[in-house]
Amino acid sequence: MNFDFSDREEAFRKEVRGWLEANLPDDLRGRAFAASRAGRDEVKKLRAWQKRMCEAGYVGLDWPREFGGRGATIVDMVILYQEMARAESPQLVNRGGVSMLGPTLMKHGTPAQQQRHLPKILTADELWCQGFSEPNAGSDLANLQTRGVRDGDHLVVNGQKVWTSMAHVADWCFLLVRTDPSAAKHKGISFLLVDMKTPGITVRPLRQITGEAEFNEVFFDNVRVPVGNLVGRENEGWGVAITTLAHERDVLTHIRHISLRNALHRLIRMVKERGANADPIVRQKIAQLYISEQALQCNGYRGLTNIMRGGHPGPEGSTAKLLWSQTDVELAQTATEILGPYSQLEHGTAWAPDEGQWEFYELLARGSGIRAGTTEILKNILGERVLGLPKD
Ligand SMILES: Cc1cc2nc3c(=O)[nH]c(=O)nc-3n(C[C@H](O)[C@H](O)[C@H](O)COP(=O)(O)OP(=O)(O)OC[C@H]3O[C@@H](n4cnc5c(N)ncnc54)[C@H](O)[C@@H]3O)c2cc1C
Repeated sequence: MNFDFSDREEAFRKEVRGWLEANLPDDLRGRAFAASRAGRDEVKKLRAWQKRMCEAGYVGLDWPREFGGRGATIVDMVILYQEMARAESPQLVNRGGVSMLGPTLMKHGTPAQQQRHLPKILTADELWCQGFSEPNAGSDLANLQTRGVRDGDHLVVNGQKVWTSMAHVADWCFLLVRTDPSAAKHKGISFLLVDMKTPGITVRPLRQITGEAEFNEVFFDNVRVPVGNLVGRENEGWGVAITTLAHERDVLTHIRHISLRNALHRLIRMVKERGANADPIVRQKIAQLYISEQALQCNGYRGLTNIMRGGHPGPEGSTAKLLWSQTDVELAQTATEILGPYSQLEHGTAWAPDEGQWEFYELLARGSGIRAGTTEILKNILGERVLGLPKD
């Protein structure tokens, strides 16, 4: 593993750093490690920020040039994200579109779909949500029951999705529906692009423990979707969905440590300010968090090295998700213990440390072991497929 960057890469870092310093709006700076991102006003600002980044050529950096990207290397992507974290910039608001749907359309979409959707994904002129999970299809995604029935040149969709992040502000949804209920579970599924303004769609926000309603229930009641919006063939959507899910583990998931590092640095600063750094137990906890953060970095770089050598990331992706979610919770709990009752003060309260981000962080961290693969499922994968332990 080589930790050094080339002269060209260092020059790119300098360029990005300068651009972020000059362009990141003050009211978005510092909201990177834990902040509400779901309010309509906030989303409006984040859309404008993505557009600005796009105009400067920093969105879809790794997309091929023919699709509006720069064909950049993974190392350039790592540098971009490192610098965004350093500047405390928020992440892209249309991340699902840029990281997941974009690459899916490049691989499986028609030229018409690519021309229609890819440019607006990059600029965030159209925001996308992911309509995969259902009340009885979460970890067991292939159990999905939302139906799509052919009616001439349309598919008529009926059913319900759940946990759909940003559906309340999204313009479009990439949706999985069952089009052949008689086929085996992983067959008979289709992948659809659905305009969220289509009659028959109802979005109901789900208020979370953090107090915000970032995700939603989405109901489909005789929603007519043109067959031209099928990605891949009818009943062959599972293979398309696998491409999407593979891209859910984008470069950012290999460098999860950078968001932890931001929070850890803030925590250390606060510990010093409060004089808690003399406490040996606090010191021990901070040291342990630092070790985990460094272990995540090495593990992430190992996965990226595999990709750069033309291979695929191995089980380090699952171990990284496990360690990251555990460390995330430990960091939040350590901050809560150190801050004491102040940790419970929320945004908008005069005495809330770091504008209430710790209160939000502690509550948000509870979802870390659920989203993008639950802890139990990851342990199953590692146990059965990597360690060869007996099933169940
Ligand atoms: C913040 C957040 C954002 C999300 N955004 C989206 C989104 O935009 N779009 C979308 O489609 N989905 C989204 N999800 C949903 C997410 O993908 C699911 O929550 C996840 O797949 C788990 O599914 P589930 O909630 O139905 O839990 P279940 O699958 O019902 O699992 C419940 C519990 O049982 C355990 N379990 C399940 N199966 C097994 C097994 N075989 N062995 C051992 N234990 C098992 C799980 O680990 C878990 O603890 C989001 C979730 C979160 C937390």
